[in-house]
Amino acid sequence: MEKKQFQAESKRLLEMMINSIYTQKEIFLRELISNASDAIDKIYYKTLTDSQLVFDNDSYYIKITPDNDNRTLTIRDTGVGMTAEELENNLGVIAKSGSLAFKKEHQAQDGHDLIGQFGVGFYSAFMVADEVTVTSRALGSDQAYKWTSTGTEGYTIEPGEKDSVGTEIVLKIKDNTEDENYDEYLDQYRLKALIKKYSDFIRYPIKMDFSGKRPVEGSDTEFEDYQEEQVVNSMVPIWRKNKNELTPEDYETFYNEKRYGWDKPLKHIHLSVEGAVTYQSILFIPENVPYDYYTKEFEKGLELYSNGVLIMNKCSDLLPDHFSFVKGMVDSDSLSLNISREMLQHDRQLKLIAKNIASKIKSNLQSMLNNERENYEKFYTSFGRQLKFGVYSDFGAQKDTLQDLLLFYSSKDKQLVTLDEYVSRMPEEQKYIYYATGESIERIEKSPQAEVVLDKGYELFYFTDDIDEFAIKSLRNYKEKWFKNVSSGDLGIEAEENQSEEEQQENQELFAYMKEQLSGKVSDVRSSKRLKSHPVCLTTEGDVTIEMEKILSAMPN
Ligand code: ADP
Ligand code: MG
Repeated sequence: MEKKQFQAESKRLLEMMINSIYTQKEIFLRELISNASDAIDKIYYKTLTDSQLVFDNDSYYIKITPDNDNRTLTIRDTGVGMTAEELENNLGVIAKSGSLAFKKEHQAQDGHDLIGQFGVGFYSAFMVADEVTVTSRALGSDQAYKWTSTGTEGYTIEPGEKDSVGTEIVLKIKDNTEDENYDEYLDQYRLKALIKKYSDFIRYPIKMDFSGKRPVEGSDTEFEDYQEEQVVNSMVPIWRKNKNELTPEDYETFYNEKRYGWDKPLKHIHLSVEGAVTYQSILFIPENVPYDYYTKEFEKGLELYSNGVLIMNKCSDLLPDHFSFVKGMVDSDSLSLNISREMLQHDRQLKLIAKNIASKIKSNLQSMLNNERENYEKFYTSFGRQLKFGVYSDFGAQKDTLQDLLLFYSSKDKQLVTLDEYVSRMPEEQKYIYYATGESIERIEKSPQAEVVLDKGYELFYFTDDIDEFAIKSLRNYKEKWFKNVSSGDLGIEAEENQSEEEQQENQELFAYMKEQLSGKVSDVRSSKRLKSHPVCLTTEGDVTIEMEKILSAMPN
């Protein structure tokens, strides 16, 4: 029997792949299962166009069987199988994906789409196996063929035995090394966990036999051997279900099962988008702030699935920083399964999805603010700071996205109010949106600077969070009204406007003396009409206010 070499470039690619494309060895199972699922999909396609064939759901499945004695792991499917020629073409030439060719021929119908598009997944088997044997019988053929390879050395193809259509892949699992434990890929519970993790939503049943000992019924002391077949995956993902069929508890259960958080979700957003980009997504706003949220350790991101198969745990490209508190997942048929992290960043589809998701999050927050104020304020107390950071860190680029989502405490009932609420009740003659900064509402209220504005009957924003003023500075204005810190020199309030020249003249000597005494601390000492019950107040010139100066000088460089 002739041993064939992999094509030269294939050989190099194979070495590269085994050693570097995939960082986690465990994903080989996901790749083989998704190939099996693709193969069953192909039969399904055929039944759509061939009236001779019927698709009987029960006879299509994937079976995973570990054999500890022989150190093998078998993945069997009842899919279309491969002819000798297909074995040669699909498994002998890396990066020539049979699924891609098939897909071009049969444009996707009925929402069924094939996962594989790149043609490197199969070889991930060599990350855990010394030898791989593929025995396959193609649909419409009586003869099976066997493909065998030990990796980069090449492969052989010979006639084989198989009594039904489909493919059986036997992996000879590697021996443990000092750094690597391969035994786990023979452990039934570990395998089950891997299937749950990566392939839970594959549309066809993934079966395993479970064996062990259990107590004989009615006895405490006697045990019997048992073996039973279980379907391990849950098959229909919640995000593919109709919103109307789902209860809030279903989403809550999903949130907890997925360990998005230990709390309850404050809100869920279930999206099913079709058009220029097609995806399903379930997003959550957590009720509590994750313990590491406002630290450098926190990693934002959504789980990313390609056609029901998990390809990334935390895809950070899917969330803008200002919505980094959002948890959840996205599933799209338009992404390829074995795309690498680096390639993903440039993926046009992914960018479109990210853009779409950001706008959905925004509109959902907006409607929460409009219709569920109490819930929104709860959310804002947890994550409002992040929205304000968002405005500030993008130099106002996110102004339109974020400004209407902001809340600040104001002198009106000391409640959180929106910029729009403030502006809409401004009296005609009021020129600015006034704000005052300080440690607490109480302290701000007592300050001489605030007094003028409050006395005038104008509403005043109380900025108690150190990021507040930075955010406002980035916005610059809202609905053409400019923001004004009450400690700034020119408040735009009538009475205070024309500084009394007389008073200034009369006290010239006193002011000069004071200025001298405070030299280096103040730039000028003037008389002011803005003072009511306080003898003196500090004001600033220019754009940087006293509070900002404090923060800036405290910042590490
Ligand atoms: P991809 O799935 O991205 O196409 P793979 O390397 O995973 O790339 O698989 C290569 C090709 O081998 C597949 O496109 C398919 O044509 C064929 N193949 C792999 N596994 C099976 C299987 N279980 N049944 C039928 N064909 C398979
Ligand atoms: Mg594949």
